[in-house]
Amino acid sequence: MTFEEAKLCESLENNISRSGYVKPTPVQKYGLPIISAGRDLMACAQTGSGKTAAFLLPILQQLMADGVAASRFSEIQEPEAVIVAPTRELINQIYQEARKFSFGTCVRPVVVYGGVNTGYQMREIEKGCNVLCGTPGRLLDMIGRGKVGLSKVRHLVLDEADRMLDMGFEPDMRRLVGSPGMPSKEERQTLMFSATFPEDIQRLAADFLKVDYLFVA
Ligand code: AMP
Repeated sequence: MTFEEAKLCESLENNISRSGYVKPTPVQKYGLPIISAGRDLMACAQTGSGKTAAFLLPILQQLMADGVAASRFSEIQEPEAVIVAPTRELINQIYQEARKFSFGTCVRPVVVYGGVNTGYQMREIEKGCNVLCGTPGRLLDMIGRGKVGLSKVRHLVLDEADRMLDMGFEPDMRRLVGSPGMPSKEERQTLMFSATFPEDIQRLAADFLKVDYLFVA
């Protein structure tokens, strides 16, 4: 599949060209059709494989096709997509890509991570948030403070799942997925990426994903 064959909307196509992406990487080529079709996916993909665009582009496309509401100020926001990664650096990279690809659209991504004051992040959420990117603890913090409601989540991405387990985030991930309001796995699309696929990751995938697409990049 080429980017043209992915039938993305014009603003996404423009943003892809502006990024200088000409040819999809393997994880994009094989992942895009599955994710665009709204299916769940567990993919073994390394950093540098292009996995961020592989999940962001079809999620943004689906949000726009579904006519996601433009962001408006509100003290509580209900994002349509939640993306989780283990470290500040990783989640920031994802957020930067999300900003780049959503440029010129009504989709507003926001990023939250630990180790810094919550004030700025809460104000950014209040301005509007369709795609919330975060590290597990800070996401739970924002949910606990009532800044973020989960009932509209249609897409949930768990990136670098093996690193999240290594860093002891399994309880936080389970708490997040089981948080009040979070749609069940039957009602949402769940995507999981991991560099390795040991038993504990297989268990997590079985618990969080409704289908069994396994793709190795
Ligand atoms: P990732 O694995 O998502 O962290 O991406 C690794 C790097 O590859 C990032 O700097 C991306 O901007 C870049 N990249 C992703 N997809 C493509 C593509 N199709 N063509 C060129 N560069 C890409």
